[in-house]
Amino acid sequence: MEQLVSQNKQPVTYLRLSVTDKCQLRCFYCAPHSKFIWQPHEKIMRYEEMLRIINIMSNIGVEKIRITGGEPLLKKDIARFMGNVADIPGIKDVSLTTNGLLLGKHLQDLMDAGIKRINVSLDTLNPAIFKSITGVDAFQVVWDNIVKSMEMGFHPVKLNVVAMKDINDNEIIDFATLTMNMPLNIRFIEFMPIGPAAHLMAKHFLAVDEIIDKIKTELGPIVPIKKEFNKHQGPATLYRLENSVGELGFISAMSHHFCETCNRIRLTCDGKLRPCLLNDIEFDLLSPIRMGAGDNDLEAIIRKTALLKSRPATGNMTCIKKCMRPMISIGG
Ligand code: SAM
Repeated sequence: MEQLVSQNKQPVTYLRLSVTDKCQLRCFYCAPHSKFIWQPHEKIMRYEEMLRIINIMSNIGVEKIRITGGEPLLKKDIARFMGNVADIPGIKDVSLTTNGLLLGKHLQDLMDAGIKRINVSLDTLNPAIFKSITGVDAFQVVWDNIVKSMEMGFHPVKLNVVAMKDINDNEIIDFATLTMNMPLNIRFIEFMPIGPAAHLMAKHFLAVDEIIDKIKTELGPIVPIKKEFNKHQGPATLYRLENSVGELGFISAMSHHFCETCNRIRLTCDGKLRPCLLNDIEFDLLSPIRMGAGDNDLEAIIRKTALLKSRPATGNMTCIKKCMRPMISIGG
């Protein structure tokens, strides 16, 4: 097997797979409120098509799959599908990113399918602000489901917090404090210029360095967590507060690029393979599949896509292009 690699020979081992573009929430920075139209059913990959692509990828060294969306828990039989993904030889890690709304109903099935790792997206601990960000009054449901996941033994349970000036920057300390007594990993994510978020960057962007400074000033020193203990950590830089139970992670996609070490590719629910989130290049895998392409042809498209992963030309934010497709239809 020849390992799938990027232009600078970085092994590509991680697929983020979006299984649907549907979501119950309308987060103002992710899903355009009124204009978003779901892809018609026939344009969405079927589970067999997704499994075929993952099989080909696992043969060339992809070993970690994150299921995302849209909202993946809206998809019928998702736990069974995730179990099928986990059963593919070579796949070592299958995880889920969810808005948490339906999580309670799926926890037992996910556990039975062998899934342990769950990320829940939650930008605020304030029910009114939750409603203003997402358009839905459902903070308590999500919070109860997060607590239930921890009680049932899912680990790690990560909370993805997109840090935004004038929206939730006054809650950074509240989120970080949660890790003192709860086994939660709080991951602060920089706001990215994707789809409807592009024009909001100037207003809401908050750099990870500012977040770290705030936490250190108010809560004291943070201790780096060594990489070897966290082989599935992805792009987050990890720390913990002294004597805390949980962890803090910081994802600085904009202020400190991690392109040189990025090991991921993305497959949208309509079968488009993307080398990079912040770039609109994508290659169609679904049409060739439906026109009868063989595994070798599909592998060639996968290799071509991975080779377009490159290091940025400069170290500053301007080298990142805007991405026109909204995050809800790419899969975050
Ligand atoms: N529905 C699932 C969820 O809520 O986690 C999965 C899809 S959602 C698009 C995945 C993640 O992308 C969420 O954590 C969301 O906050 C994040 N996201 C969406 N748009 C973003 C942006 N412009 N910048 C940073 N993160 C973004």
